[in-house]
Amino acid sequence: MNKEYYTGKQVKVPAFYPVYLFTILKINKMKTYILSFLLLTIAVVVSAQEELPMKMEHEMTEIWDPEVVKVTPGETPADAPSDAIVLFDGVDLENEWTNDKGEKPGWEVANGCVTVKQGTGVIKTKRSFNDFQLHIEWRSPAEVTGESQGRGNSGIFLQGIYEVQVLDNYNNRTYRNGQAGSVYKQYAPLVNACKAPGEWQTYDIIYTAPRFNNDGTYFTPPTVTVLHNGVLIQNHVKLRGPTEFIGIPEYSVKRHGAGPIVLQDHGNPVSYRNIWIREL
Ligand code: MG
Repeated sequence: MNKEYYTGKQVKVPAFYPVYLFTILKINKMKTYILSFLLLTIAVVVSAQEELPMKMEHEMTEIWDPEVVKVTPGETPADAPSDAIVLFDGVDLENEWTNDKGEKPGWEVANGCVTVKQGTGVIKTKRSFNDFQLHIEWRSPAEVTGESQGRGNSGIFLQGIYEVQVLDNYNNRTYRNGQAGSVYKQYAPLVNACKAPGEWQTYDIIYTAPRFNNDGTYFTPPTVTVLHNGVLIQNHVKLRGPTEFIGIPEYSVKRHGAGPIVLQDHGNPVSYRNIWIREL
């Protein structure tokens, strides 16, 4: 069948209808009239059930309501759009963040950014999130020390348990599923888009939280897409389970709800700035 048509019910007047009319008018006898009328009625009813092609019009596939919600974008793609929650504006950290104990975060805020203070532990958002779009900018120390996992290591934990790795991998080899932009020990980044140490870099992360079966297993696993400095490095990957340094992620899967954004203290003075999130 032609794609421009779909099958629909249509009333079709039989081609022999005028002949009946003519016959009725011509003979004009009561019996013939009644008989003809009955036959014609039956013919019309049968024809009405016939399926005929109906031409599609472009309006049939156009949806107008409800109107799409308007959002005012930022000056640049790095700037928060109108519906974003600004998690860190370069000045006020305490408004949205705590340390792991829910107390004042121990990291240092200066010069429009916040920097890991070794030994003070993670910082995490007071708010919890499910599905989101996260923009975050990070900078590994200009002064290069250490190698492999020991150079500019931090991390962004989605819902507090799924880590997107932050690491200085500019001329620094490490295991591929643990380098910058990896979903740590689950997915290596598609490419290495690192800038030099001391330069600001961006992650744009689109995250869909898992949905669970009654037994606590994933009904749909969490998925992550990451752009590193505008380059796609994770393309809607399905997470195997929570991030494990030692162990198998699948063994750690258990039901959870909304969770915070957590930034890792791995002992290196990595800095962050311009953090905003859009709940989806
Ligand atoms: Mg890390």
